[in-house]
Amino acid sequence: MAIVKICPHCGSIVVPVPILPVKTYLKEQFVKELPLEADWHVCPNQKCPVTYFTKGIISTINDLTTSLWFKNKGPDAPICYCASITRGDIETAVRAGHTTIKAIRTSLDKNLPCDCKKLNPLGDVVAKPSIMR
Ligand SMILES: [Zn+2]
Repeated sequence: MAIVKICPHCGSIVVPVPILPVKTYLKEQFVKELPLEADWHVCPNQKCPVTYFTKGIISTINDLTTSLWFKNKGPDAPICYCASITRGDIETAVRAGHTTIKAIRTSLDKNLPCDCKKLNPLGDVVAKPSIMR
């Protein structure tokens, strides 16, 4: 039987994440103490301040170097971490008539190589369709 983990703050079902986004997005003073072998999770609840956590360590939105797209619903939320494209950038491009990812990226002059596996704050998003809604 799979163990369902919940957020220690809000009780939401959480998402397992690899260490790479945790190391990438936690502020430096936090990173010094990271147990790299631990099981890390992230709370997907937009209204909850808890972000990455593991046994004995709980980070919040204030402990990160960027905002997480699923916590920040504003136009400044990063959506593509590889090319620094925000929600507002995408909305502007769509309003201008660009309807494909390629057209949107081209209109923003941000057709850069994709590095989502490394830079998406959830790690491998393909494995986590539930949070992509
Ligand atoms: Zn939470």
